[in-house]
Amino acid sequence: MDKPLKLYFIPYLAAGHMIPLCDIASLFASRGHLVTIITTPSNAQIISKSNNLNVHTFQFPSQQVGLPDGVENLTSVTDIDNSYKIFFATTLLREHIENFVEQYPPDCVIADFLFPWVDELANKLHIPRLVFNGFSLFTICAMESLKLHPLPEDASGSFVIPHFPHDIVINSTPPVGSKSFIDPLLTVALKSHGFIINSFVELDGEEYVEYYEKTMTHKAWHLGPASLVRRTTQEKADRGEKSTVSVEKCLAWLNSKRDKSVIYISFGTICYFPDKQLYEIASAIEASGYEFIWVVPEKRGKENESEVEKENWLPKGFEERNKGMIVRGWAPQVVILGHSAVGAFLTHCGWNSMVEAISAGVPMITWPVHSDQFYNEKLITQVRGIGVEIGVEEWITTAFRDMEKLVGRDSIEKTMRRLMDDSDEAVEIRRKAQGFAKLARHAVGEGGSSHQNLTNLIDEIKLLRDNKGSKFCALTSLR
Ligand code: UDP
Repeated sequence: MDKPLKLYFIPYLAAGHMIPLCDIASLFASRGHLVTIITTPSNAQIISKSNNLNVHTFQFPSQQVGLPDGVENLTSVTDIDNSYKIFFATTLLREHIENFVEQYPPDCVIADFLFPWVDELANKLHIPRLVFNGFSLFTICAMESLKLHPLPEDASGSFVIPHFPHDIVINSTPPVGSKSFIDPLLTVALKSHGFIINSFVELDGEEYVEYYEKTMTHKAWHLGPASLVRRTTQEKADRGEKSTVSVEKCLAWLNSKRDKSVIYISFGTICYFPDKQLYEIASAIEASGYEFIWVVPEKRGKENESEVEKENWLPKGFEERNKGMIVRGWAPQVVILGHSAVGAFLTHCGWNSMVEAISAGVPMITWPVHSDQFYNEKLITQVRGIGVEIGVEEWITTAFRDMEKLVGRDSIEKTMRRLMDDSDEAVEIRRKAQGFAKLARHAVGEGGSSHQNLTNLIDEIKLLRDNKGSKFCALTSLR
């Protein structure tokens, strides 16, 4: 092999950004390139030690921002004030990271779009910058379309995405705060050499790749599904935080269940539902009679929670009456989704969760909450037909805000039944979901689309490195 590339990855400090970008970093390392992840000490703990990843850490400014030691990412905080502190802390890391990168420049830097200042840094060093935000390309296209063709200022309720390849109806208008936060970040992202996407072309569809390249005159590289880089059960179980339930216990429980009989329920790492909403979910589970694994954020189910506090979100006697497992904290999600006993996934539509379910052939019940989730939902339900919608209409600004409208137990139960009963619709959705799982595995294998994209991207970065200076400007415009 010729001279390996020297690559720096700078993931954002949140599990949903960090886990997939580090898995993508492993893909480059597995081809023999020198990969360094730049992060802070606590975040370094959750990065896989396998696959030859180097980790360079900078002290997290805990005292300056007023966070306890060890709380260094969005996944470890449970309220909006502390989430702002994490955000502020990342801005304080800028100077340290810049000095390091300038002193030991790489051939390419791959950074989260929440670090827009990496644009200036990469330009200064005349190195290409690739950008990652953990969204599907379909979602980036939808957001860009709304930037180009804004809705009227007084718009509310559902709307059709303007000038789009499909007529996609979004159930709720994005809050102004959410759009005004994300839009400028996307604008800077579009100045990069290209987007890295944790998905595969067959899922986003050629029509959206073309739409993106034509409308945004920018390149996107589909390299996923990132989670498929983990092959063994142990590697899958080690993904992210330490599980609160052992993988052996989960597998033993799942092994005792019939195929496709269990609903897996999780709302990702930063959605905190009010007690009343959790109570509705519990009541729907109970009414449906399905077996389940339900992941409930730790603050809801602390070991020292009193029985009275617990009854605010879990009907009295629920655990004795129902056949399921409540996981309080972190579950080994990729292992669970990969088990044949799982028949459906009730998800908040975080893109990682969706692409992990797709890789496992598990159809979804979609319940978006904020950010990219309302668009992700539509790719899965309206475009690809591998999920059914709960019908959420309230789009909250950020993950830590309480919603005003609850989703009632009847809607939840009814939607669960649509996928879990063996109706013709359910059988067809399952068949399609399994088809996409095959395509996902094929995409990352030798000769598959994501595998080939990785080869092309590596060749392109090498070309930029070897012709540094003269060709840099020409190649950073659209190929
Ligand atoms: N995850 C997990 N166990 C949990 C909760 C989350 O393994 O109990 C992982 C999940 O597999 C996914 C990531 O954390 O890779 C969450 O990312 P996603 O985009 O789905 O949602 P977010 O948390 O960013 O809203």
